[in-house]
Amino acid sequence: MPTAAERREALKAIYLDEAKDCQRCPLAETRTNVVFGAGDADADLMFVGEAPGANEDRMGLPFVGQAGKLLDRLLEEIGLERGQVFIANLLKCRPPGNRDPQPGEIEACQEYLMRQVGLIEPKMVCTLGNFSTKLLRGDSTGITRLHGRAEVRMLGERAVRLYPLYHPAAALYTPSMLETLRADFAGIPALLAEPPPDQPEPVEVPEPADDEAPRPDQAPEAEPVAASSAPADVEQLGLF
Ligand code: URA
Repeated sequence: MPTAAERREALKAIYLDEAKDCQRCPLAETRTNVVFGAGDADADLMFVGEAPGANEDRMGLPFVGQAGKLLDRLLEEIGLERGQVFIANLLKCRPPGNRDPQPGEIEACQEYLMRQVGLIEPKMVCTLGNFSTKLLRGDSTGITRLHGRAEVRMLGERAVRLYPLYHPAAALYTPSMLETLRADFAGIPALLAEPPPDQPEPVEVPEPADDEAPRPDQAPEAEPVAASSAPADVEQLGLF
């Protein structure tokens, strides 16, 4: 089981080596910052929103606008704060004018999210709104039917308790939706207290036969371990 520091370093490495200057889709041309995700790299609970908005794009951090303030308030009501959870988005870059994510953008970006889930190994993932719910459940059922119902799903290789919620931005202007979101949030502590979902047996990778094993003179040289010297922008990434 990796330590919290190992998970944090692994996330930083993905950000620095790949995501920070990502060119996988045309959103690279219009974004200011890649919004990779922030919070506790060792969190039991992860939130997955849709995509950065203007404030997030400017600051490089998820949920820092009005929807983020509401998310903070809802977390506080269940005794949690941001530093205890991990918050990410389905898309790491802002769609111009906050338009909906396009299929090609989701396709290009989803691998980052799957790797984040694989590294953080949360017990529970709350999807916020339709886009992340549909992607992570792998079907087109909408959030109105699914919100507030936990189910165990495989995300990549990992069994995770998935808990779809309304998106806080949608709840901002619709009082009845906010009450529903608040009621669904109230269910989180009990779900987190449940034992984590059983994980599938790891697939056995057979040992190479003797004649396939590399000879000592062919063995790759161990990479020297670099001292960690994180650039300033990594410190601002918001990883705990
Ligand atoms: N809405 C989202 O889905 N994500 C953010 O980071 C901000 C608003």
